[in-house]
Amino acid sequence: MVVAAQRDYYEVLGVSRDAGPDEIKKAYRQAALKYHPDRNKTDPDAEAKFKEAAQAYEVLSDPQKRQRYDRFGHEGLRGVGVHDYDHMRVDDIFSMFNDIFGGGIFGDERRRGGGVDLQMEMSLTLEEVARGVERTIEFDRQDFCEACSGSGSEPGSPKRNCATCGGYGQVEQSTGLGMLFGRVVTTCPACRGKGVLIASPCRKCRGNGRQRKHRVLVVRIPAGIGDGQGVRVAGEGELSDNGGVRGDLHVYVRIEPHPFFERHGNDLLCRVPISFTQAALGARIEVPSLTGKLEVTIPSGTQHGQMFRLAGRGLRSLRSQRVGDEIVQVWIEVPKKLNKRQEQLLREYAATEDASVLPESKGFFEKVAELFSGSSRGDSGNKGE
Ligand SMILES: [Zn+2]
Ligand SMILES: [Zn+2]
Repeated sequence: MVVAAQRDYYEVLGVSRDAGPDEIKKAYRQAALKYHPDRNKTDPDAEAKFKEAAQAYEVLSDPQKRQRYDRFGHEGLRGVGVHDYDHMRVDDIFSMFNDIFGGGIFGDERRRGGGVDLQMEMSLTLEEVARGVERTIEFDRQDFCEACSGSGSEPGSPKRNCATCGGYGQVEQSTGLGMLFGRVVTTCPACRGKGVLIASPCRKCRGNGRQRKHRVLVVRIPAGIGDGQGVRVAGEGELSDNGGVRGDLHVYVRIEPHPFFERHGNDLLCRVPISFTQAALGARIEVPSLTGKLEVTIPSGTQHGQMFRLAGRGLRSLRSQRVGDEIVQVWIEVPKKLNKRQEQLLREYAATEDASVLPESKGFFEKVAELFSGSSRGDSGNKGE
């Protein structure tokens, strides 16, 4: 788990090695706001810097982790439990530290977050998975009320600033529990976070500023997606309480069973029945593929269950773009009925057949013979005294 060339945490936050907790908190706050990806849409490195700062802060703000880091460097943090920020969403990192510090560290930034995520399921055929699809999806979600533009106030009626929170929408309360951080920031109970008080509520939405709306979206599902995996469409979820930011929409994929193929990662397994004469004599057979029928040559002497790999006929990997294979497994079918002529020919064939020469049966019958010739030796041991 050691990441190559990790930067020094003090350097990341731009503080000296003897910086106090407040200085570290302040430095992190500045770095997090500076590199927040929402504010740096043109800087591709912003997210990485944001996450690097979060990690540095987690370590340097924790006296135990900081002590280990000071003594042993990054190596000292192995097994200590520092979050894996690379795989966390920026919003989650934000809310993680907001929770720890009761919202105080980010101030106004907190009011922008907190939309509720929506999720839905979509079923795809294997053919659609192979090429990737664009699908139109429809769903209902809350939107701003058209009559009052989301203010909740009847158009034309006066509004006044909430005195309880001073228009901020949030109030600080002391928990009185003697906790490390004794103050929490909560939504203002007087104005429910809106910052204003409404004299006469909007008649259309009864003052909550929202109305249900139908939403139509085109979602792109990449080729190679797995069953149960999803695509996140940022900003298409529900509005947050104070209307600032939408949550995300998660579209999860279910893959329909296929009549011919079983998926194994990026490979596709296809079981194809062949006759015992095709197996013995060899044949060219037609097999299904995701792009149409293919011809495959089965060599003479093919055995039941034998597999043939058709390179590059599987699914494209979601990550590496490498294309998997189709694996054809043959199943030998023995005819349940023979006509007179067939039976006659087979009896003639059987008369010429020396079963002890076939490799599998030769080995099998040799083992049987061995077992029974050694029976006197085995029996005596089994009486047991
Ligand atoms: Zn309204
Ligand atoms: Zn208020």
